[in-house]
Amino acid sequence: MAFLIPVHKWTRIVPVRFLRAADMDDPSVENGPPDGNAPDPDDRGFLPADQGCAVLPVGIDESLGEARYPETRVRLTRQNMEDAGVLHVVSSVPDRLEVTVPAPGAALPAARKMMVKFKAKSAGEAYLEVRFGTAEGPVIHRIRVVVNLTRDVRLAAHVPTINGAAVNDPSGDPGDVVPSRSFRSDDEILGMIEEVNQIYFPYGIRFVPEPVIDRAGVLNFTHQGFIHVLTGEFNRTTALNRIAGAVNMYFVPQIQFADTTIVNHWGGAANSSRGAPRTFGSIIADMAVGGQTVSHELGHVLNLVKNREYQHVNTRMDPAHPGSGRNVRDDIVSRRRLMWAYTDFLHVDGMGYRDDVGYDIGNPGCMLTVKDIDGDPTDDEMAEVKRNAARLPAPPRP
Ligand SMILES: [Zn+2]
Repeated sequence: MAFLIPVHKWTRIVPVRFLRAADMDDPSVENGPPDGNAPDPDDRGFLPADQGCAVLPVGIDESLGEARYPETRVRLTRQNMEDAGVLHVVSSVPDRLEVTVPAPGAALPAARKMMVKFKAKSAGEAYLEVRFGTAEGPVIHRIRVVVNLTRDVRLAAHVPTINGAAVNDPSGDPGDVVPSRSFRSDDEILGMIEEVNQIYFPYGIRFVPEPVIDRAGVLNFTHQGFIHVLTGEFNRTTALNRIAGAVNMYFVPQIQFADTTIVNHWGGAANSSRGAPRTFGSIIADMAVGGQTVSHELGHVLNLVKNREYQHVNTRMDPAHPGSGRNVRDDIVSRRRLMWAYTDFLHVDGMGYRDDVGYDIGNPGCMLTVKDIDGDPTDDEMAEVKRNAARLPAPPRP
């Protein structure tokens, strides 16, 4: 008598795959800055519980009127199939997602990398299906598309003067000290908030700045131009000319985290509107470039990461690492997420493939997760930011 031992062997063929389309026209372009109409698919995990596919968040701004809704774009790449294989992209709910590229009835081009564009018309979910042979052929792959309406959140920007003992600024000319006020002009600040809105648009959030940027506030602190964010200086800053309920954001020369004054080390700091509903706020240092850092700090304001053991998607709470937390992972997907702890990557020889995650070399990405994968306590970010944005007041109507 023999036992029959069952052996399970399986493999998954991935004929095609959806990726962020950094360039508006060229599907071979692999990287570029964030764009509200080119969302980053949450392509982690392909278990049946995740409906076996990636998820693409898409925003629509109802105030524009449907005729002016923009096209959203996403790339499709052939992984395990011939370029000559005929493929069509079909919307599972044409009233919600209207495929515009390729043109109605046309096949995708016989190329390795292909552009897909569509118009999202109503909130809710639908699939973009990749069909083989004809538009009615078998579905060989699909992506779940989640369409979010835009929710406006009031944002008050401040540029305070910070008096205190002058500290040498090694990033300037010899003898320069850290100035008492941020160098940013109103236009630069508004430009950063526009970049923020490119990043949050797919997730259904838009930050609306107050018409006037407040430059009247004065703070008398230990060091000129510095906010020590682990002391009472953080709350004293966020109380300054505060607009209650709004997201108050303070643009300052530098942020200090430790007892020693380390210059140009921190791009921003913020706390959660859930954890500190009357004092929450965000601080942006002059070293922060572009909207990614500002968006990251607004992620903290919107209560990311909601699991308090984690400070970021890649760092865990540890008193020995105030501010950022202790590193717990460093993979290409974590580096693509908005709540990655750092403004750049630590390069490791032989692992250079991790240095470009689609937002140009050295730059962390802007993805918020849509999925809620079991065992990842940093997940479910889109639902969390939407929930918390909905608790914050919208700007007053004109
Ligand atoms: Zn952070």
